[in-house]
Amino acid sequence: MAEADNKYANGKIYELVYKDKRYIGSTTMKLEHRYSCHKCDSSTMGSTCTSKVLFELANKDGGTVVINLLEDYPCESRKELEARERFHIEQCQDRVNKTIPGRSDAEWYQANRDRLIKYRHDNKEMFAKRDAEKHQAHRAERLVQMIEYRLANKDKISAQQAVKIKCECGVTHRRNDKARHERSRHHIDFKLRDTTPN
Ligand SMILES: [Zn+2]
Repeated sequence: MAEADNKYANGKIYELVYKDKRYIGSTTMKLEHRYSCHKCDSSTMGSTCTSKVLFELANKDGGTVVINLLEDYPCESRKELEARERFHIEQCQDRVNKTIPGRSDAEWYQANRDRLIKYRHDNKEMFAKRDAEKHQAHRAERLVQMIEYRLANKDKISAQQAVKIKCECGVTHRRNDKARHERSRHHIDFKLRDTTPN
């Protein structure tokens, strides 16, 4: 790729600062352009916009969020730029960034494991209730599935049930009547004779 075609040659890491709040970002744009985008996003986007909180605080106070260049970071790809951004985010204790670029789910889990376990523990009853409700819902779902299957396969099922089986006691019964047959006097007497030593 020619140098001029690679926009990551303009890669840079910046921070947005308002009072003690700090947001770290990376861009290939000019800083004043990136700043306008942040300002615009903060009024059009919802809570997914993490830099929003700085602009909201500044608006309330009549203050101004400032953007500072942390470093120029010419590189080859988005991946490289994000890796550098991540480095800065991880250095910064008072950041408002919620996501760290390039972090895998497993790393996120490791970093948040204790907090998750505590949350689960502190909300034990809520989770138990939710699990029970889920179980009930699935039970109803399974029942509906079974009924629908039976209705759709009525003929097949009754054909299966009508199959005749010859029992060891000599009686022929429908497959479906197996349980009932095994409780019959004839069958029980046969079993008793069969297992009682002469
Ligand atoms: Zn029998």
